[in-house]
Amino acid sequence: MAATLRQRIDQVRHVIATAANKSGRDPAAVTLVAVSKTVDRPMIDAAYQLGLRHFGENRVQDAVNRFDPPLPPDAELHMIGQLQTNKVRLGLSVFTMIESVDRPSLVQALDKEAARIGRRLPVLIQVNVAGEDQKAGCAPEQTSGLIQLVQESAWLDLRGLMTIGPLVDEPEAIRPVFAGLRSLRDQVRDNDGSPSLDVLSMGMTNDYAIAIEEGATEVRVGRAIFQP
Ligand SMILES: *Cc1c(COP(=O)(O)O)cnc(C)c1O
Repeated sequence: MAATLRQRIDQVRHVIATAANKSGRDPAAVTLVAVSKTVDRPMIDAAYQLGLRHFGENRVQDAVNRFDPPLPPDAELHMIGQLQTNKVRLGLSVFTMIESVDRPSLVQALDKEAARIGRRLPVLIQVNVAGEDQKAGCAPEQTSGLIQLVQESAWLDLRGLMTIGPLVDEPEAIRPVFAGLRSLRDQVRDNDGSPSLDVLSMGMTNDYAIAIEEGATEVRVGRAIFQP
């Protein structure tokens, strides 16, 4: 198992390096989040042993089950799925970072729970750049208001923005969405003058090379790592 997993991880790292170099960026500036939502714990442990330190899950209960016992403390677990406010307490028992902040009620619930457990919580705001009806994420025009709300939250640490590209046959069709998230980030950064918003979490198995070319600092890759 470890041998082929190793090869897949090496291949993903190679794609990341190629895309970063192509756009004149440092491959080390791109964080690889291994999306483990479809695999069992032994595979996750093997990936950790092979050097991966960031993992992503999209359901609270699955993450709680899969990450008990927890990985060593240098591992990070990212919440990348829609988060209900009634799952916030359970979620923060396992996640170290929330990427799917998309509404004021969630900001308030996260801040309250982070305060209760006394832990500052890094978050990303998820934006529905493509404007798809069924997709999670705030509308682009709501981003600025949510940023302000997060910044007013004592226990939340705003790191940047996240988006999920639309499901399309041709990955190149997603490029404008990734470029859109980056320019939205640049715009709010200029307007509000304040937050650094360094993190752009965008790109999955089908499109992470394109996302990196468009400025992703974090890619969330599941199948390319875990699917034999
Ligand atoms: C499942 C998932 C991924 C990983 O998708 P792959 O196509 O398996 O790489 C990335 N981001 C989110 C939000 C996901 O739900």
